[in-house]
Amino acid sequence: MKLENIKNMDKQLTIALVAHDHRKADMVDWAVVNAEMLSKHKLICTGTTGGLIEKAMKEKGIDVDITCMNSGPLGGDAEIAALVVRKKINLAVFLIDDLNPQPHEADIQMLLRQCRIHNVPIACNRYSADLMITSTLWDNDDYLPTEPRYIKFNR
Ligand code: PGA
Repeated sequence: MKLENIKNMDKQLTIALVAHDHRKADMVDWAVVNAEMLSKHKLICTGTTGGLIEKAMKEKGIDVDITCMNSGPLGGDAEIAALVVRKKINLAVFLIDDLNPQPHEADIQMLLRQCRIHNVPIACNRYSADLMITSTLWDNDDYLPTEPRYIKFNR
């Protein structure tokens, strides 16, 4: 099923897309299902994920604004984490392979941690991604995301 809401969104988002090798099939499928919607936003991807998405979009005849960083194990996740720190990313979809060890586990944790710290929505499965991209909050100027507070809760 196609998700329509974000298509009508006024705001142009910068969306980070990263998928581990065993999760790339799901990422490419998700991107193709949502190709029209994604073509309205800026995409920042790790190298291999971005290349595969670009190829799949081309095959569908859809132009996408896609920037590829290094491949994940060579620093792509770290580059995207740096963009999160600089507030350049609105939303991240990060399909992690939870069933196999990754050589760049430290970078994976860094990207997740920086998204948490900087209050960047990050979807780690397709259902979460679908919920996030159909949210009407993106265009609601009355909604201000509450920043995380790091204070001790006094009982
Ligand atoms: P890749 O990187 O898209 O270059 O494969 C993803 C990752 O492993 O984090």
